[in-house]
Amino acid sequence: MRVGVFDGEGRLLRFKSGRTPQTNTSESVPRALLDLAKGVAGQDWSSIWRCGVASIGPLDSRRGVILKAPNIAEKGSEIPLLAHLREELDVEYYFLNDCNAAAYGEWWSRKEEGVRNLIYVTISSGIGGGVVDNGHLILGKIGNGAEIGHIIIDASGYMDCGCGGRGHWEAYCSGANIPRLAEKLLEDERLERGTGLEKAYVEKSLDAKMCFELYYARDRAAVGLFELLKDFYAAGFASVINTFDAEVLVIGGAIYLGHESFFQHEVLPRIDRFLLLDKPRIAKPVHGDLAPLYGAAHCALEGVEGARIH
Ligand SMILES: [Zn+2]
Repeated sequence: MRVGVFDGEGRLLRFKSGRTPQTNTSESVPRALLDLAKGVAGQDWSSIWRCGVASIGPLDSRRGVILKAPNIAEKGSEIPLLAHLREELDVEYYFLNDCNAAAYGEWWSRKEEGVRNLIYVTISSGIGGGVVDNGHLILGKIGNGAEIGHIIIDASGYMDCGCGGRGHWEAYCSGANIPRLAEKLLEDERLERGTGLEKAYVEKSLDAKMCFELYYARDRAAVGLFELLKDFYAAGFASVINTFDAEVLVIGGAIYLGHESFFQHEVLPRIDRFLLLDKPRIAKPVHGDLAPLYGAAHCALEGVEGARIH
């Protein structure tokens, strides 16, 4: 969790981070967030006039609750985040999905350059994203719009996704799912046997990092895996580019940033054959890991109506 105090020009003044509590989360998460906020705001607590909150989704921005948080919440329970925050800090609130917030933060820092349309994609343990269209953040009816990690890149539905759907981009290409794809392809005898990839699979040591390392070492099964992955990545990027017609595509996340040369030279050139129009300018996040924090603050500062809690 990260909390920052911003001034009226959208500049970050002070900042603190803390660990997200893992137990009794419907109470402990809002509590920990408030403690962190008080620590960073200090004597300025009473002068805070708006608050932007970026959260994992899916969420309900009308009610200010996180609907499903499989990584942190008790099964099936909602986290009524905003109700708790309001008890101690009674200001105007803006509540949005972290990737939508990141998209807004990245766009906000480029709007002086004249950028009006921006797509943000993060490839890490999952795949997330957000879109700013002509200066407006796409939020959807309750704040879960532009969930581009869950676009369908394989209608056969070979891989199931953590969200419950099938064939989603994230189910093939995120850091958590690259090894799952490798395992399934090995089990279905669609990759060469007797290779380093199979050995790692048998030893249960397969993760995304090892998949990349084996690919770089030209392990034959890993090369087969990555031939598929390159097309899946390109299909996902091209689909969002074709859908939103943006000037800039910002790509971040640990998988992308950790393997930038691979993406630049082996994935991005494959996008062209799927494209309707020109490729947008590809850029890295200005704010890095802090993009959701900046975006939440800038949404509050600008009074983005779709994210405002009434
Ligand atoms: Zn999904």
